Amino acid sequence: MDAELLRQYLEFYRDLGIHTLYRQSAPAAALASSETLLAGARGSDGEGVVSGKSEKPEVREALPDMTPAGDTLPAIRDDIGDCKRCRLHEGRNKIVFGVGSEHAPLVFVGEGPGADEDAQGIPFVGRAGQLLTQMIEGTAKKEGIALTRQDVYICNVVKCRPPGNRAPEPDEIEICGQFLFRQLMAIRPKAICALGGTAARVLTSHKEGVTKLRGKWFQWRDIPVMVTYHPSYLLRAYNQDAKREAWEDLKKVLHFVYD
Ligand code: URA
Repeated sequence: MDAELLRQYLEFYRDLGIHTLYRQSAPAAALASSETLLAGARGSDGEGVVSGKSEKPEVREALPDMTPAGDTLPAIRDDIGDCKRCRLHEGRNKIVFGVGSEHAPLVFVGEGPGADEDAQGIPFVGRAGQLLTQMIEGTAKKEGIALTRQDVYICNVVKCRPPGNRAPEPDEIEICGQFLFRQLMAIRPKAICALGGTAARVLTSHKEGVTKLRGKWFQWRDIPVMVTYHPSYLLRAYNQDAKREAWEDLKKVLHFVYD
């Protein structure tokens, strides 16, 4: 196994919250087959891209299922507990874990709670949330897809409100991201929609801004990821093109998941 592959394995285990590994020799055949799987899950540029194009994603082979046995959303919420793992706990009122069904085929991932979410403990309930609900339900209706907000799962990269609604810091993302990754592994949706730059960077490993990434398919593990604008940006956007583009992105995801 080369150093790059080993690094990817270690990052994968770390994302799952596994920090201690024991050295043990593996049968050569088993090692070879897991290397094939891991390579299959990487994009051609090695960064998790499915196709980087706007067509339907070609999902590559799945990683071996390494979710902690029996992991569930309630178990993950229990593990979070009254979290004080990073500085964001200092100013929070409520931890905003996520809302929706454990069996949702589509997950929306935002950045972090705002003031309304912090007060209620539910993601996307403020102005941006109302726009998100309208986008999901309005687009679905127009496209002839029977879908309400309750049918999808909605969560954020960080579970506590960053002060003044600033973007989460890398260490906060690293700590809280392990819970997001466990949520995604427990739900195993058919697709993920990353809302805005923070979610896009975490789920695609690409560093470019949303304008570059939006409308394209990427891959997190073996799950297709569509990037689009954050609804807060759309509330501020003078540019009507951004709204039109976000609706187009959403249409692609909805048809991929529900057709
Ligand atoms: N913005 C987010 O990124 N998440 C929320 O839950 C609300 C606003």
